[in-house]
Amino acid sequence: MTTSFRVFATCDIGDAINILRDRGYQVEIYPGPEAPPKSLIVEKVKSGIDGLITTLRDPIDGEVFAAGRGTLKVVAQIAVGFDNIHRGEANKYKVPFTHTADVLTEATAEFAFFLLGALARKLWSAEHLTRENHWGYWHPYLPFLGDEVTGKTIAVIGTGRIGLAMIKKCTGFDMNILCYDPAYENRDYIKAIQEEKDLRYQRGISRERTWIEYTTFVDALKRADFVSVHVPLLREGESLTPTYHLFNETTLRQMKPTAMMVNTSRGPVVDEAALARALRENWIAGAALDVYEQEPLPANSPLRDPAIADRCRLLPHFASAARITRLSEDPEKGMAGRCVQGLRDVLEQNYGGDITQMPYVVNKEAFVK
Ligand code: NAD
Repeated sequence: MTTSFRVFATCDIGDAINILRDRGYQVEIYPGPEAPPKSLIVEKVKSGIDGLITTLRDPIDGEVFAAGRGTLKVVAQIAVGFDNIHRGEANKYKVPFTHTADVLTEATAEFAFFLLGALARKLWSAEHLTRENHWGYWHPYLPFLGDEVTGKTIAVIGTGRIGLAMIKKCTGFDMNILCYDPAYENRDYIKAIQEEKDLRYQRGISRERTWIEYTTFVDALKRADFVSVHVPLLREGESLTPTYHLFNETTLRQMKPTAMMVNTSRGPVVDEAALARALRENWIAGAALDVYEQEPLPANSPLRDPAIADRCRLLPHFASAARITRLSEDPEKGMAGRCVQGLRDVLEQNYGGDITQMPYVVNKEAFVK
């Protein structure tokens, strides 16, 4: 089957795009590594393209959907998060949008775990010591010590795909796990993890018996040595339990002064001004961030304060940035492959053209008959 669909991609997604070209699609790719100006996206959509490939940097709102009225058939996002796409407007104009859930779950969770380890064991400060030639002796506790994660308690905030994968990683490190999720409690998974923990203890693999349980948000914050955040960005009015500034002055003060947090979800989930203060004034002991309220992180961000550099790790929205995860053409393995497949499902009317059956479409509610 060959087609003559026209597609505009706001970034290069690698070789997976050739799957479309080989099928006769006319594909135009924005050449820069940065996001294209919004006006260019609107212009391309107005020109009558059938499909738009987007990243989380592109604001896809009512203006874009209005520009594509009658012509734009699908928006295919190369990410699992889709807070940049206005769901209400997509539904109003009856445009399905797709995302790339699942294929980045393990990569994102392992990255969150690695950040946790780097933060807890002070890898950044320790490497600086070596590189800057300040490593003068071996000593039982000087110039500083880190904290082991093994045997400690972690709070996993949000037990969706990535939160559950994080639980799996933490189980391998014999951590106790507090779970919080107001909308989705996967009790079967938690039960299976407890069985795995019990078996590890019974068979002498773990030295101590560890546990996992669901609890409230405040209880999780109060008891955890580490907090890892795996929620979508939901602003006021988008959910009964919005996540915008879920971590703020009040909630950061509920954490232990020795606790550390990792955020690989979305930047606006954390009030950065409050977090910088929490680190400066030692309400908490450390934070590792992969995502920010404004990306790239502005030069004047309070998080760049050199006074907190030893306990604040800053990464460039990098959690899914692993070779196979990002670029594999296989829709079962790579975000690029899954993005292309989502776009094809809609344009080529797979699943008998029934959008509600298409696995990668997010806003199925707009198409229920
Ligand atoms: P998911 O939808 O499977 O899981 C999110 C979970 O959060 C759901 O179970 C939901 O019930 C829960 N939740 C909603 N509101 C909550 C609240 N107020 N408090 C606690 N939990 C709440 O999504 P996922 O695939 O696990 O991805 C989670 C998020 O991670 C994505 O939305 C995206 O923003 C982010 N992400 C970031 C990167 C990165 O590169 N840093 C990569 C992948 C995903």
